[in-house]
Amino acid sequence: MPEFNALLEGYKRFREYSYPRQKARFDKLSTEGQHPPVMVISCCDSRVDPATIFDTGPGQMFALRNVANLVPPYDDSGGMHGASAAIEFGVSGLDVKHIVVLGHGQCGGIGAALEGGDLGEPGPSFIDKWMTIIGDARDKVIADAPADPQRELELEAIKVSLVNLRTFPFIAEREARGEIKLHGAWYAIGEAKLFTLDETTGEFSAVG
Ligand SMILES: [Zn+2]
Repeated sequence: MPEFNALLEGYKRFREYSYPRQKARFDKLSTEGQHPPVMVISCCDSRVDPATIFDTGPGQMFALRNVANLVPPYDDSGGMHGASAAIEFGVSGLDVKHIVVLGHGQCGGIGAALEGGDLGEPGPSFIDKWMTIIGDARDKVIADAPADPQRELELEAIKVSLVNLRTFPFIAEREARGEIKLHGAWYAIGEAKLFTLDETTGEFSAVG
């Protein structure tokens, strides 16, 4: 398994070079616990690592990664909701001050949702069900037929996730009290460029 051995080699480099340089930080995080001020919700895509994009180290960011960086609507019907559990812990447990929904270009989940059909395993698929979070947005993008439907749906999905975050009572209450801020952002992989959403205009603009 050369791929796994490559991981172990990386671990050895970390132990030899990176860890000693950051030992004080790791010690502090271990004794004092984590207090990240920011939660980031990003895609599982291997090219979109939020710690790389935002140049952060351990303890700075509470990260949730899932297919297409989606937030499901609040649902207290008793299912096993991994994404919602992470959001609850970030907000109620860690008291993060910001949540960033980080979308990205060339998103496989978004592309598959646009094409429709079965996205994962034949028959009942976790991905098919998961992508119904943006079912309405997908239908609207297809009806509008923009020049770049993939990018349009990537941007719309970020807005849907922000709407869904506000269906969680503990987020809506904190936002109303000014204790938490929600942000939308989209990352272009090839150019390594970040765009942020202005929720008053609905437009994304490049940072810097
Ligand atoms: Zn993606």
